[in-house]
Amino acid sequence: MIGLTCTKCGRRFMPTTQEIETYLAQSEGKKHAQVLCPHCGYHNKIDIHRLQGFMRFTPAGAKSEEEPKPASEQNPEAGS
Ligand SMILES: [Zn+2]
Repeated sequence: MIGLTCTKCGRRFMPTTQEIETYLAQSEGKKHAQVLCPHCGYHNKIDIHRLQGFMRFTPAGAKSEEEPKPASEQNPEAGS
């Protein structure tokens, strides 16, 4: 989670990963994203690189879900 402090009301809030993705998409080509404060509704200017850096540390969409297959499926007592 990223911790932001609203410049207007001074309260802390944490936008979710999904929200940050939206902010990044909305602010393409700009240097700052307009991040909405949930307390007072003020749009805080947050550096894009800061949000991007946060996304890098967040394991969002982790595709490394490997199902360990049981190796004891084959019966060694076969034949004879
Ligand atoms: Zn605020």
